[in-house]
Amino acid sequence: MKAMRIHEYGEADKLRYEDVDEPRLASPQEVIVALKSAALNHIDLWNRQGLTGMDITLPHILGADGAGVVVEIGEDVKNVKVGDKVCLYPPTGCGACEFCLTDRDFLCLHVRVLGERLQGTYAEYVKLPAKNCFPIPADLSFEEAAAFPLVFLTVWRMLVTNAELKPGEHVVILGIGSGIGTAALQLAKHMGAHVVVTSTSDQKLELARNWGADHGINSTTSDFAKEVRELTGKRGADVVVDCVGGDSWGMSLATLAKNGRLVTCGATAGTNPQTDLRRVFWNHLKIFGSTLGSRGDFRQLLTFMSVARVRPIVDDVFPLKDVAAAHRRLEQRKQFGKIVIQTAAV
Ligand SMILES: [Zn+2]
Repeated sequence: MKAMRIHEYGEADKLRYEDVDEPRLASPQEVIVALKSAALNHIDLWNRQGLTGMDITLPHILGADGAGVVVEIGEDVKNVKVGDKVCLYPPTGCGACEFCLTDRDFLCLHVRVLGERLQGTYAEYVKLPAKNCFPIPADLSFEEAAAFPLVFLTVWRMLVTNAELKPGEHVVILGIGSGIGTAALQLAKHMGAHVVVTSTSDQKLELARNWGADHGINSTTSDFAKEVRELTGKRGADVVVDCVGGDSWGMSLATLAKNGRLVTCGATAGTNPQTDLRRVFWNHLKIFGSTLGSRGDFRQLLTFMSVARVRPIVDDVFPLKDVAAAHRRLEQRKQFGKIVIQTAAV
């Protein structure tokens, strides 16, 4: 099969489009999926550069997100059959610990994620546990079905499971344009929240307004904490999605109303920001950190996407042989929404 692999860590030019042996079933609980589409995540860039500290055997296929058709199943597989169109739940655990036994593999000490410790989705075929395959919601295309799992699962856990977002609440999303930011915008709007977004780009703020954002703040020219206070009659926001960290962190805390919730799944601008703890206890704030989510979260998300007709925002689609160009677009933060890879030969 064709696949995009790295043989050594480094820049996007280390990605090699080449012929690779097709994966083979190694257990009766596994399946092989013929991928139609994959999608990029920031973690792919860090894995490509070898920045995660994880032991990855090289050469390696990156990619945590994918969608396609089941073409082979192990003898114990009951939940899918050959020909099923599926999207993929990225993490899998040891199968035996307290977390794995309750469908929360993402918390397992030995968690393996597609494209990290498992061979990923920048390929024509991928092997994975059958229980990580789920029916594609509503009438999403393969491109859309590959675009949503990792970021929407992460955002669902942050906004719904952890922050318990309610209709009518005020949500602030920092750095709109990223996969996480656009997923948060879409889910929060579908849930009836009032959504304020920030960006350093007026163009991205305009796009966000077209996708339903109620208010946009250019964070290079305005103090978003102050502006949100003014917008909400000094009350502040109920939920802030801050996957930026760095200097934004203190402002995110200052943006929150009493009983506000701060959710984070990343810290692209810095991992050691100052925190005024008085703000946290005086204002009864809750801070939730998370990455990915449980199979239960994923099932709830799939149902919600079908019922609410949520279609993920696809920024652009690249053929498999051009993954390096796709990586550069993500690295330069030019995207609005998800960058998708067409993995199947056309
Ligand atoms: Zn486990």
